[in-house]
Amino acid sequence: KAKEERGSACVFVPGMDEHLQLRRGLEADLRAAVQAREFELFYQPLFSLARNRVTGFEALLRWRSPRRGMVSPAEFIPLAEQTGLIVPIGEWVLRTACAEAAGWPEEVKVAVNLSPVQFRSRGLVETVREALQESGLAPARLELEITETVLLQETETVMSLLTRLHELGVSIAMDDFGTGYSSLSYLRRFPFDKIKIDQSFIRELQAPPAGAPAEPPGCAAVIVRAIVGLGESLGIQTIAEGVETAAQLAQLRQEGCTEVQGYFISPPRPAAEVGALLARLNPP
Ligand code: C2E
Ligand code: CA
Ligand code: CA
Ligand code: CA
Repeated sequence: KAKEERGSACVFVPGMDEHLQLRRGLEADLRAAVQAREFELFYQPLFSLARNRVTGFEALLRWRSPRRGMVSPAEFIPLAEQTGLIVPIGEWVLRTACAEAAGWPEEVKVAVNLSPVQFRSRGLVETVREALQESGLAPARLELEITETVLLQETETVMSLLTRLHELGVSIAMDDFGTGYSSLSYLRRFPFDKIKIDQSFIRELQAPPAGAPAEPPGCAAVIVRAIVGLGESLGIQTIAEGVETAAQLAQLRQEGCTEVQGYFISPPRPAAEVGALLARLNPP
């Protein structure tokens, strides 16, 4: 039977199944990656439809592994969460994002993803406060993105953490909105500043072919319309993610969505390219 050897290198234990071995290997590499500083942040523009300008960037974690190549966060974040490694990694993300954003124009914000595990660890509010202080970034320029899974945990604690984060002056966005079971009830309990409409709804937005008579909106379009309307009534901004085509953007503009994000504007790019992106998308 496989003996638990937390923190050790990947060792072969007879009888250990292949999946577990692969996981152990990944965990060992991930642990080493924290020390070896193999992480990097890419940035993807958040584009305001009202202002026709980039108003911020979402920081997206990348792992450049010498052994595995570029590893997608979808592959390593779940394991980082299970092992608790997401706590030091998330701290690095916060500090790095704040430090890099401090060099951008003042009207440009940075959005950082927070894992539910970070809400269970001690010192989240202090980490955010320190990242702001060290970098000199104005709190209003930091936005924290949380998913509904954060809110599924012991609600009292999470609500008080969110309130304390709000009190620092940062804004809070609800990520992947519409994919969970009870997104709506959370809007009543916490004053979110922004709703990020999940990309699954945007993907299904169907543009009518050019010159075709107007058709009744499809299901995804009806949902997007409802979320935008909800945001308008509650005074919450709405951003659509995963916008890949001009037609999707046009439809979102028509629905009154406040911001868009997606490959159509720009894919996530390395920090060094933020200046060039701003020069192209925010002409003086
Ligand atoms: P997310 O927060 O929902 O981020 C949006 C994902 O959609 C990103 O994937 C982004 O690259 C991708 N995307 C952007 N525009 C488009 C588009 O037009 N079409 C399509 N198909 N995809 C688009 P990415 O960078 O692979 O990140 C995946 C997930 O990993 C993120 O989903 C987020 O949940 C998590 N993640 C990324 N960075 C961090 C981090 O620093 N901390 C934590 N806790 N999670 C992170
Ligand atoms: Ca996000
Ligand atoms: Ca999302
Ligand atoms: Ca997502």
